[in-house]
Amino acid sequence: MSLRRKPNPNRNHPLYCPYCAGETLFPNEETEFAWFCTDCTRIFEVKYYGQDDPEQRPAPAKSTSEALKESLAKHGHLINEGGDTPQ
Ligand SMILES: [Zn+2]
Repeated sequence: MSLRRKPNPNRNHPLYCPYCAGETLFPNEETEFAWFCTDCTRIFEVKYYGQDDPEQRPAPAKSTSEALKESLAKHGHLINEGGDTPQ
C-alpha cells in the first residue's frame, strides 16, 4: 500500500509566491494545484490554461511557393510556371 497519490502531470511550479514573493514554496494537499508559502502562510493555486485548444484556430500557413506566387500576382508580376523566360 502506498500513501503517495499519483503525481499530477499538469501541476506547474511557481518560483515565487504571488503575494509576498517568498521563495520557500511547498506543494499542498488542499487541491491538486495548491502551493503553500512558508513566508506568508498563504495557500494558492497555479494553473496554466494555455494548453487548451483555442476557440478559433488560425488558418494554416501557406507554403513558401504559394505565398511567393500570391505576392508576385498581387504586385503585378507575371508568374512564369514553365521556367521559360518570356520574350
Ligand atoms: Zn507568500
